[in-house]
Amino acid sequence: MAKLPEFKIEVATEADVEGEMDCSKNPGHVGFIPFKDFAIDHLSQIWQEERIFEYIRNIGERVVRLVVKCDDGQCNYGSGLVENWAGQYVIATNHHVIENEKQAKQCLIEFDFNSDDRSDVIVCEGTGLLETSEALDKTLITFQHVPKKIYDLNMVDETLFIPEVASTDENGQTHRYQALILPNKVNDAGILVMPLTCELNKARETMVHFHEGTISKLASDVMKFEPIPREPRLGVGLSNQHIGDLKLTVAIADIKGKMKTLTGNIEFIEREVFIKLPEALTNEEAQRCTITFPDGSVSKGTGVHFLPTTLATANLQGLDINLDNLLSTGIPAIHVLANKPFWSLAFKPIPRGLTEQLDIQKRNNTQERRLVHTAIVIGHPHGGRKMVTIGKHLPLGTLERTERGFRFSIGYSCKTCRGSSGSPVLYLRSCRWYIHARGGTGTECKGEIVETGNLNKAFWWKKYINDIFIEGSM
Ligand SMILES: [Zn+2]
Repeated sequence: MAKLPEFKIEVATEADVEGEMDCSKNPGHVGFIPFKDFAIDHLSQIWQEERIFEYIRNIGERVVRLVVKCDDGQCNYGSGLVENWAGQYVIATNHHVIENEKQAKQCLIEFDFNSDDRSDVIVCEGTGLLETSEALDKTLITFQHVPKKIYDLNMVDETLFIPEVASTDENGQTHRYQALILPNKVNDAGILVMPLTCELNKARETMVHFHEGTISKLASDVMKFEPIPREPRLGVGLSNQHIGDLKLTVAIADIKGKMKTLTGNIEFIEREVFIKLPEALTNEEAQRCTITFPDGSVSKGTGVHFLPTTLATANLQGLDINLDNLLSTGIPAIHVLANKPFWSLAFKPIPRGLTEQLDIQKRNNTQERRLVHTAIVIGHPHGGRKMVTIGKHLPLGTLERTERGFRFSIGYSCKTCRGSSGSPVLYLRSCRWYIHARGGTGTECKGEIVETGNLNKAFWWKKYINDIFIEGSM
């Protein structure tokens, strides 16, 4: 196996700004597209759709150059991205670009650095550190004065992906858990994942609180009901293997009393009898269900039952980490992780801003497009004008142990240079972006030829993932 490259942080100094012409990582900057010239034709054919192009342009408009003052009076240059964080516009970049409150307050944020004459540049000022994670190499800072055009851009509130779940147990005690919304829909439902330590099936009540005020309920397609008919009433013995084929009519009334009919099946889980439905219901919806058995007898839904899953069995789409590749690395911790149960659940209602984002992701994440691993980096290499580079995902990602816990890394081949640290790396198939964190060079990755000669990496998404999938499991 080819040796992995040495990965380096990519912050530019003033010397790098001057020395753009003799770049050692990407000589001649072949394939660097000035953002102002970026056109739909630069995309491979499968992505040449106007609204996808506009989506990428929209992200590019949010990319900024960061000028960070160092203690020695020199400046470092990095890149960043405007995010909507709990209704506030903030800049996301690397921890190694902005480490602390002092740097956050002293940094300059430059929008629209699109040409060497800097004629359109809008300079804003950092006002404080919102949060920073050394392990994920990610920092969020606040800034002023937000340029007007930013208000006009459509931007999902990133906190919609990390709601809090409040679950009240049998004794009336409420426990709070960090949850994560996955960037895709299944059967038109959003998917929420959370740690198994929450005993959902014993809880009196569980509610999902989104920052903007939406309160949702968890839903499951496995329903409890009473009374459980004795065997003769089901028409066949409960032990009969064909019992799963039995079609049951489930009538559900909505809150206005309007009736809808579903067809359910008997399902045995740990020797208990449930009804499996074609769609997920909340506890309240299940309690409005009436089940009619073949002999005409009737039972009532009493609630829903939640089933845990594992990464190895869940087949979650849009994760951007490739479990098969991870497992092939042979790291024992990954096997433990892959088989560790967690909750992966539907929920209702889905907040409006989240619905819009999930719809974009669903539209882009087609079977055909999932096979095209296009990744795009937009940033300020060498601290110069804004550039776009196009590459693809690489099977480089792994589970890394750091002093502060585990993290996933993901790899891509888009060209980056010093100054690219903090640039968004957009994975087109999931419409998810990551913060470019390390750059390396190489021509091959696990048997794949890497045409750009760049082997770069970022860390997977949100720190909460560690709490859900990793912490306490190893
Ligand atoms: Zn360069």
